Amino acid sequence: MSKATLAVLLSRLEPFEQPKTHLEQYPTPSEAAATILWDASQRGLVRGKHVVDLGAGTGILGIGALVLGAKKVTFVEVDQEASQRIERNVALAQERVEGMLGTHEVVIADVTKGVRNLSADLVVSNPPFGTKRKGADVSFLKAALAIAPACYTFHKSVTERHVAAAIVSLGAVVRERFTFTFGLPPTMRQHEKKAHLVAITCFHATKDL
Ligand code: SAH
Repeated sequence: MSKATLAVLLSRLEPFEQPKTHLEQYPTPSEAAATILWDASQRGLVRGKHVVDLGAGTGILGIGALVLGAKKVTFVEVDQEASQRIERNVALAQERVEGMLGTHEVVIADVTKGVRNLSADLVVSNPPFGTKRKGADVSFLKAALAIAPACYTFHKSVTERHVAAAIVSLGAVVRERFTFTFGLPPTMRQHEKKAHLVAITCFHATKDL
């Protein structure tokens, strides 16, 4: 499996049918997903590990982890309707790889209320950016670093300083930043009809040992 093959596989997953604006639903671009998962994999954070996808949506990030050899993936999502789509997408991915993917489970929960009893090796998350619900981004970050000692988390680049400060205040260190341009759907911004391009930073953070 190469990074390019992973990106192609992820690009074939089923997107949101009718994205819910209040939940800030939009799929992570497959290239960006492949880039950060590839990095995590190179660092030995995926193969044989338990990975949690917070705000899993279509499941693209967790499914990428399964394809790269994760032992188990827990998809956490508040939207009940996400379950079936995640199951269909895991099945789609399974059809396209040789060998059995690791196990997975879908947990329906509101991440901003804290996720109890979940402990893993790595969290991958493209959370709501807090556009509709202020502070959702930092609540996700808090949950991520409570669940695992390492995470990859996407944020709007304009909030980069605030996110970096939150990471440090949670006792973690920023190891790497990846920058992308996402075309967000028009529904993500009030009063605008056209899709718009937004600078996005994905942080790789780990807890201080
Ligand atoms: N990573 C996914 C979705 C990104 S959009 C993908 O690429 O497909 C953000 C996701 O977070 C949406 O699926 C939305 O339903 C979910 N979400 C929003 N608020 C949430 C909350 N409080 N708890 C859990 N999930 C939430």
